[in-house]
Amino acid sequence: MEVRVRYAPSPTGLQHIGGIRTALFNYFFARSSGGKFILRVEDTDRERYSDESLEDLYSTLEWLGVKWDEGPVVGGDYGPYIQSERFDIYKKYAEQLVAEGKAYYCYCSPERLEALRKEQAESKSEYQGYDRHCANLTAEERAELEAQGIRPVIRLRVPTEGKTTFHDILMGDITRRNRDISPDPIILKSDGFPTYHLANVIDDHLMHITHIMRAQEWIPSGPLHVLLYHAFGWEVPQYCHLPMVMGKDGQKLSKRHGSTAVRDFRAKGYLPEAIINYVTLVGWSLDGSTEFFTKEELERCFKLENIHKSPAVFDYKKLDWFNGQYIRAASDERIASLITPYLQEAGFIHDPLTAEESALVSRIVPPVKERMKVLSDVVPLTAFIFRDEPVMDKTVYVGKGSDLEKTAEALRKGSAILLSGLRDGKSHEEIETELSALASELSIKVAGVFQPIRVAITNSTVSLPLFDSIDLIGLEETERRLHRGLTILEEN
Ligand code: GLU
Ligand code: ZN
Repeated sequence: MEVRVRYAPSPTGLQHIGGIRTALFNYFFARSSGGKFILRVEDTDRERYSDESLEDLYSTLEWLGVKWDEGPVVGGDYGPYIQSERFDIYKKYAEQLVAEGKAYYCYCSPERLEALRKEQAESKSEYQGYDRHCANLTAEERAELEAQGIRPVIRLRVPTEGKTTFHDILMGDITRRNRDISPDPIILKSDGFPTYHLANVIDDHLMHITHIMRAQEWIPSGPLHVLLYHAFGWEVPQYCHLPMVMGKDGQKLSKRHGSTAVRDFRAKGYLPEAIINYVTLVGWSLDGSTEFFTKEELERCFKLENIHKSPAVFDYKKLDWFNGQYIRAASDERIASLITPYLQEAGFIHDPLTAEESALVSRIVPPVKERMKVLSDVVPLTAFIFRDEPVMDKTVYVGKGSDLEKTAEALRKGSAILLSGLRDGKSHEEIETELSALASELSIKVAGVFQPIRVAITNSTVSLPLFDSIDLIGLEETERRLHRGLTILEEN
């Protein structure tokens, strides 16, 4: 039997890191088992729907290089793959259940249902939910209500006795008493719109989905879905609910922890291969130790058995680390083209680039590649090349264990060593040795000498290696900035 899995997001928000993890697990499982990966857009909630979310879904998957075998745009044998284009199908199947007595029309007004809810809440009745008021209407009663122009909803008959069980590949058997399942839930609304449950089950069946891999948040819907499969007389697909994605504090990952929208990660300058690699490790591992995986490797080695049961932690620091590794592994040409938009956005260079700017960007790449965690780091790291905004706060020049007076002296003497050393063509090591010697002479740590020099040249405490920085602005400009730094330090 061919594996057929789907990613079935609702376009009601930006693609979340947890959603993308679901997409990747489905995609890699399909690829590694020679099956099909299907994309289905579950846009039945028209109030929360937005075009922007749908575009974000497509562009995120495209950016990650996750191609779907069937779905919107590419089509397939079981389309359409957008639920809002399938409303007549859901209606037909819901009516079929009514005809078979497994579902029924309900004419209750929202007012009646609201009064019922209040009454149940006040009397603290053990029974909560719909009271099956319309479960046994006669044809005459129905005709009368229809004549009044009331448009009914369709409710599924949920058995009041017994239990419903489904098997989950990771979690084992999950059983729920039928009386704990929402009594006779609506499956088709009065405007003909299906509820999520109905559309989801019908589509998974009609699209021949073999495995349902989705977030654990959906486990509570499982028993109801199984009841629907039974009502239709359809085979239940295999379930594999994925471990929750948590923040480091053990709470469900949310905006409180940091960005959760993939689009934000992309904007900050994470590489798609870093996101793919790290996100796939959130709740999955091959052997507990291998950390680096290319997309192609995951397409081969991803196995359901290796998905973890326990909640998985999304560690932003670890993702940064992966991203840094991937940035360093990327070619200089690729990094040059990736950092260019950030430099343009900051107003450092033109769009399109001039020939000189393009040459400068190429020169920037090797040193920044070593220091960036995310591509947008290029802006603070290289600002000193494009803008000269000296640090006026003297204390910033003071290295650890030094003081203002020694800092001024370190900068005066250090600048002389540095400039003459460079003019005489001394090696960087030689110059560094002389600067270290100066530190001992002044009885301060080496940072006490390097810090004022660095701050004077790069207008910042975070920047590129000293000699790379000098190289990028030129010796003359370096000299000017060193003198100015001294002036700032010596001013009262
Ligand atoms: N549309 C649901 C969601 O947004 C799909 C749940 C499922 O995969 O069954 O997550
Ligand atoms: Zn009713």
